Amino acid sequence: MTEVDLVDAHCHLDELGRRGMAVERALSLAHAAGVHQMVTSADSLAEGFAGLELAERHPEVYFTPGWHPSNGRAPTAAELGELRQLLRHPRAVALGEVGLDYSTRGGRPSGSHEMQREVFRSMLELAAEADKPVVIHQRAAQDDLLAVLDQTPPVRGMLHCFSGDAGFAAAAVSRGLMCSFAGNVTFRSATDLQQAVVVVPAAQLLIETDAPFLSPQPHRGALCHPALVAVTAAFVAVHRGVCLETLAKATAEAARGFFRLPPA
Ligand SMILES: [Zn+2]
Repeated sequence: MTEVDLVDAHCHLDELGRRGMAVERALSLAHAAGVHQMVTSADSLAEGFAGLELAERHPEVYFTPGWHPSNGRAPTAAELGELRQLLRHPRAVALGEVGLDYSTRGGRPSGSHEMQREVFRSMLELAAEADKPVVIHQRAAQDDLLAVLDQTPPVRGMLHCFSGDAGFAAAAVSRGLMCSFAGNVTFRSATDLQQAVVVVPAAQLLIETDAPFLSPQPHRGALCHPALVAVTAAFVAVHRGVCLETLAKATAEAARGFFRLPPA
């Protein structure tokens, strides 16, 4: 039997640690599941520094510094300088999470929409300047997200934890974006995501855990960790009518191409 080779395109290892699973444990479970590389992404500057430290300590971990819309404001000039500095690190493989979030999670909106678009544009510039791709967070802001992308010079982008239907996936694909699916694609109610995941060409398809969040079925509600990307990959493979090995190979190749990772 050939061993599967998977990449977790998006997780939050420091947050996983805070919720009780040490990175060493997560990495050994991942290795056993055939998950040989992973990208830990940051919502805040502090998480960016934490990601850097993890990436320097563990050869299978790469990181992305980011500025999530939930920060509710633009970074200061000093913070922008620090983001730029982090992004120059050789193990910083993209900028993100950045993007637009018009949902009101926990009743707390992430600042005005106009401010969010302004910050997102400045983040796209920062990524272009560093010649690195962007990890995009999008909630309830599909039209504005595409509009901002259409108005700015093209960047290589990934819609992390893809949220939307097949129509939005097609719009993203036509703009050259990668679509990355998390464990919520396995939820019984997620028919939109299940329809979206079949319209994305293999070269633009990524699989992620978004650990410690969104454990796939049948682990829903439990702490999510990078090994579980194998569970989501198996589900997506069935939906696309291919075997797990084929799906794993294609998505690992797509992730390595997008983030410019070396072979595992
Ligand atoms: Zn995330």
